Amino acid sequence: MRRFVSLLSNFVEQKPTRLPILVSGTAISLATISASVTVALGLHHNGALFIATAIFISCAIAIPAGIIHYWREVDIAAHQEKLRELAATDTLTGVMNRRTFERVVETERARMDRSGDEAAIILFDLDWFKSINDNFGHAAGDEVLKTVAGLAGGVLRKPVDALARWGGEEFAILLTSVTIEQAYAVTERLRGVIEKAAFDDLAPGLSISASFGVTAFTGSSSLHQALSEADRALYEAKKAGRNRTVCKPRLDAKAIARAI
Ligand code: GH3
Ligand code: MG
Ligand code: MG
Repeated sequence: MRRFVSLLSNFVEQKPTRLPILVSGTAISLATISASVTVALGLHHNGALFIATAIFISCAIAIPAGIIHYWREVDIAAHQEKLRELAATDTLTGVMNRRTFERVVETERARMDRSGDEAAIILFDLDWFKSINDNFGHAAGDEVLKTVAGLAGGVLRKPVDALARWGGEEFAILLTSVTIEQAYAVTERLRGVIEKAAFDDLAPGLSISASFGVTAFTGSSSLHQALSEADRALYEAKKAGRNRTVCKPRLDAKAIARAI
């Protein structure tokens, strides 16, 4: 009996819209069976009419109740999906938030631990972003952030790479199955795309740039360590004049030439 109850509750938990169908179906079946048994035992003279009445009354109650319950479950499921989506994404840009990114990276790290694959973590930060807010307003700054998120999403491979808003005007990227040289090449491509993007609708002639820190990430890395490394590299990129990419470990000129 306990096994039956647990099977039944699993069946309903997998898809809650199954519950109203189950309840209404059971109610109609029970009414039909009990009316049929009553007739079979000779307890009722007009058997066909009695069974038909039982079926009609049970259907008249169970079907509308089942439909109302069914649509409520559909509504609740849609709301829950929306909440899950909201909890996973950054509201301004629509890309992953930190928590989702950390979860995705952890799953990827466990996969790489088994496969021996390599990846890269990138942190990038928009240059002189405060002056965009100061000169064109906070709403224009928000538009720039949304555009940059879209540009970055366009450069990455979906759905294997991950992009998150790390906070403010800073973004984090996980590039999967890449060497550090390949990660450098992808980063430089993104840097070029951001540098060339036009924001004429916000302000004629407005252009922006970003600085990037890139570090290797493997199955034995910790995300915390990789982010610290990428952050140090990003800091070096800022100090060296902005609008550039710094890798940790550093790439020599030959490796850079091979990568681009
Ligand atoms: P740097 O090149 O050194 O990174 O200079 P910066 O001006 O980009 O950096 P700073 O840290 O001085 O300024 C970051 C600015 O980003 C300040 C803050 O108001 C702005 N900012 C953070 N979050 C948002 C946001 O969601 N929307 C807008 N519009 N601005 C934001
Ligand atoms: Mg900045
Ligand atoms: Mg910043």
